Amino acid sequence: MTQDERLARELEQWRSKYYDGLTQLERKEKEWRQTENVLRQCISRLSLAADSSDRELNQQLDKLRGAIRKSVGSVELEAMIQSLSEHLVRLDQQRRSHGKPVTPLEVLRRLADGINFPRGLGHKARAYGKALAAARGEEDYQPYLQELIALIGEAFDWLAGQQGEEAEAGGGGKGLLGRLFRREEGAAGTPMPAVERAGNDGTQLAKSLLAQLLTAAVAPAALRARLEAASRREELQRVTAELATLLATPAAATPAGTTLSSQEVLLQLLERLAVPAELHGEAEAIKTALGIAEDEEELGAILGRIADLVTTMRTRAQSERAEVESFLKQLTCNLQELDMSLRGAVAAHRETVEDGRALDAEVQVQMQGIEDSVRWAQNLEHLKQAVQERVATIRRHMEVFRNTEDERIERAEREVERLNARLRTLESETEALRGRIQQERSQALIDPLTEIANRLAYNERIAQEYARWKRYRSSLVFTVWDVDHFKRINDTYGHQAGDKVLKVVAKLLSTQVRETDFVARYGGEEFIILLPETDLAQARMVTEKIRAAVESCEFHYRGERVLITISCGLAQFREQDDPDTVFARADAAMYRAKAAGRNCCRAEDEP
Ligand code: GH3
Ligand code: MG
Ligand code: MG
Repeated sequence: MTQDERLARELEQWRSKYYDGLTQLERKEKEWRQTENVLRQCISRLSLAADSSDRELNQQLDKLRGAIRKSVGSVELEAMIQSLSEHLVRLDQQRRSHGKPVTPLEVLRRLADGINFPRGLGHKARAYGKALAAARGEEDYQPYLQELIALIGEAFDWLAGQQGEEAEAGGGGKGLLGRLFRREEGAAGTPMPAVERAGNDGTQLAKSLLAQLLTAAVAPAALRARLEAASRREELQRVTAELATLLATPAAATPAGTTLSSQEVLLQLLERLAVPAELHGEAEAIKTALGIAEDEEELGAILGRIADLVTTMRTRAQSERAEVESFLKQLTCNLQELDMSLRGAVAAHRETVEDGRALDAEVQVQMQGIEDSVRWAQNLEHLKQAVQERVATIRRHMEVFRNTEDERIERAEREVERLNARLRTLESETEALRGRIQQERSQALIDPLTEIANRLAYNERIAQEYARWKRYRSSLVFTVWDVDHFKRINDTYGHQAGDKVLKVVAKLLSTQVRETDFVARYGGEEFIILLPETDLAQARMVTEKIRAAVESCEFHYRGERVLITISCGLAQFREQDDPDTVFARADAAMYRAKAAGRNCCRAEDEP
């Protein structure tokens, strides 16, 4: 093989190596794009999952979500993630500087702060406020709670005495609640039905108030945000009033005018808490304790346990937020790093092209030289020498180029390898986080006791079915179910037997309907079944079959047969309807079924 041939072969080898490198780089780029897609999905879910009370954060997340849906370029996306990440860092700093977690003592402070103690108790109330303010975070809040309850009791007595005098004197006044709570004139005039219904002793009043404050954890995010942000007393007062109205809105199936005992208020409160899986045990234990609590003192202790539960849930939510936060931060770093590496690869490529061009020009010059030598050569010896010199020069240039290029390719390979490793870790982290989010989400939609869909799942599904109904106008029937005399079952056989009954009923309901139907536990012993593509007459037959199945189920508890029956109301979606109006009609029909002796079904058009 001549030197030239060898040279040509080397050149060919180098060229194929170079193209291989390029192809590899292109492949990596494609992989990177796929990964980017995964990340987009992941961020989209993350932003859905992160339920934040921070308005700006929510706005940014919305923007991000919109951008992801529109599939904007990675540079814009990165900028958004960057600003999101900066905001999260700011939030974190803010939280560290003044956002201490809410402790029962803090709840008590807010509560006490919202109460305008009457003149006659001014001294006592001030002393109490001072003691509460001085209480250290780790101190037991129980004595403070007891003292506050007693204080409110006294306030109530005092005010009741005053009102008596005033009524005798013919004075209008603001009424008991109006005086007990600081309210701006004309603002937030919402009454507090729960409070008014809670009975007329101060202890009850304090308890239902505390219960209302505690639901802060389950109130709508907007209200929660306002409660957190409330610094002035009137703000807090207004939020508390709204919370009270919220809690006092009777559950859809509670007959109007029924008064709730504190056990029931607390049970409802527990029902509304979205308790994470690992705290179910404690929540269930509290429910059982509530079922058997006999006196005020026991109720006080249970209230304490609920407060602890809520605090634990909060701490947990905070640590979850921190996790998502740190993931986003890490994601941003990795995105930046990837971008830089890709830019590096592009620069290296450009250098290669430039060097290649220079080499080409050099070869041209030498070839021209050879041509000239051939044209002007005096003798053969002279010519040979001239050509050899030229070829040697070309070779030298080739070698320099090849060496630099080898180095460059090696560097690029190493970089690609490093990037790959990085992508792999990022991918598996994304995968793990996505898995967790999905798991938590599906857990959040299932009622832990009966293992069927819960109220949250119902809310999602009814929105979907309603949208479908509006579009296609095919028949959709709404049915609401309520176990008969369930309280009696609880009272006779105990709360645990009651729970078993709920499980059995839930299972029966779910197995008696079609795949496309939807069964959910709405709360307590109330269930909802949606029957799409079914008219009222057909639905009537289905509900009758279900009712009969419940009645004839052989349920035994501790060797004794327990008769379970259930009542049902049906309503069909009609022109101008929305989920609330249909629910109300089905509910009214259900109460007619109760009035007719229970263990039967009533459609909206039946008396
Ligand atoms: P009616 O036939 O009129 O529906 O009578 P009822 O006794 O079923 O009606 P009510 O709604 O007054 O009673 C429901 C009871 O269900 C009150 C509450 O203590 C109990 N309850 C609510 N949730 C649960 C739960 O998860 N487990 C148990 N065991 N009982 C619960
Ligand atoms: Mg009920
Ligand atoms: Mg019932």
